[in-house]
Amino acid sequence: MPERPYIYYDFTLSICSTCLRRVDAKIVFEDEKVYMLKVCPKHGREKVLIATDIEYYKNCRNYAKRSEMPLRFNTATHYGCPYDCGLCADHEQHSCLTVIEVTDRCNLTCPTCYAMSSPHYGRHRTLEEIEQMLNVVVRNEGEPDVIQLSGGEPTVHPQFFEILDIAKTKPIRHLMLNTNGIRIAKDEAFVERLASYMPDFEIYLQFDSFEQEALEKLRGEDLRWVREKAIEHLNKYNLSTTLVVTLQKGVNTHEIGKIIEYALKQRCVRGVTFQPTQQAGRLENYNEATERYTMTEVRSAILEQTDVFNHNDLIPVPCNPDALVMGYALKLGEQVFPLTRMINPDDLLDNSKNTIVYEQDEQLKLHLLNMFSTGNSVDKAKEHLKSIMCCLPEIDAPNLGYDNLFRVIIMNFIDAQNFDVRAIKKSCVHIVNKDMKIIPFETMNLFYRDDKIEYLNQLRNEIPV
Ligand code: SF4
Repeated sequence: MPERPYIYYDFTLSICSTCLRRVDAKIVFEDEKVYMLKVCPKHGREKVLIATDIEYYKNCRNYAKRSEMPLRFNTATHYGCPYDCGLCADHEQHSCLTVIEVTDRCNLTCPTCYAMSSPHYGRHRTLEEIEQMLNVVVRNEGEPDVIQLSGGEPTVHPQFFEILDIAKTKPIRHLMLNTNGIRIAKDEAFVERLASYMPDFEIYLQFDSFEQEALEKLRGEDLRWVREKAIEHLNKYNLSTTLVVTLQKGVNTHEIGKIIEYALKQRCVRGVTFQPTQQAGRLENYNEATERYTMTEVRSAILEQTDVFNHNDLIPVPCNPDALVMGYALKLGEQVFPLTRMINPDDLLDNSKNTIVYEQDEQLKLHLLNMFSTGNSVDKAKEHLKSIMCCLPEIDAPNLGYDNLFRVIIMNFIDAQNFDVRAIKKSCVHIVNKDMKIIPFETMNLFYRDDKIEYLNQLRNEIPV
């Protein structure tokens, strides 16, 4: 009998990447890769590369755990996913991280910008609007895990420190500032003032490349001096920083290992987040055919380009395993000890268990006992170690600080090409929009920004309800 050239693995719903209408989709394995196949009645067939590592892709399903819900939902499930965001009652994860866009404006006009920001685009939000946004998140989450102030570029907001002061009055466990670093590089007094918001405050610093060509392609400018000076200032005040790297294949993907190794040497840096470019918003210098990069390609590049992590150290994050990979390490002086391999994956999914696989390294075991416990209590050490293996690490150990922790995250924001309704329901990075709804980051950039709402309503009107 004739055979298909692939193994049919799964079925899901996707959207046509041209008209954004819902379409059926097959997930298939072919040539040791994972593809999504879909057909739009109007725009024809699409074959999208989803993953380059079949085993890892399949293993993501083993990390699913019970979904955590927000305290309340904000919209009804009416048109079907993804046209009901708000969060609707059909969503399967609370907001692990919520983005508050305090301004549309930016001091750059990057060729790659999901928010379409520029110096004259849109407007700054008022303090009242920003407080209302924060209150919406607090109503949904009680004590939100992470709130990230973003934009545009939040540091160009004329009332920037007033915004931080308001945010600090809310029961937010960890506050982040998402920034391109220009103000941090130019103004040391600004950084000193930022440092006064520590602890539970962190800089999420754009850090795409060490190379002029890549920076000009992604950011429109040679920002090497900004990166250097910003890190110098952040190191001086030991202001907790995550480096955020937007990846485009062949542009900066050869620098993945170099960035991790650089990050490990910086006093202020607690980790690196790698984000393959989501095809949304402004994408001027991007070639979809050659520069699209998958989550598993990032993972393989980390394993190939550094000696820090092995396969067992880079695992799916249980709250959103299709989109997030994590790897944790302990930084003790010059030494780096990978931690994720110490966790038994089964225990990570079960809140009642605290078993750690201790077989690998006696020296590390001693360090951990020493760092995580007051009196060599193994149970206490296990408890502390497990508590850091989630989106928001909780460091509550007498001999260990947040400074000692280093994490690598791969964050794969689904776009219209690889859109999977099964996976999008687990999205845990959300944005508060202008209507005070809480929208998954991915669907926000595809459907819910100002210039997209009219078309979304047209799609909704076509759906028989
Ligand atoms: S992505 Fe989530 S919030 Fe949006 S429509 Fe789907 S289930 Fe609802």
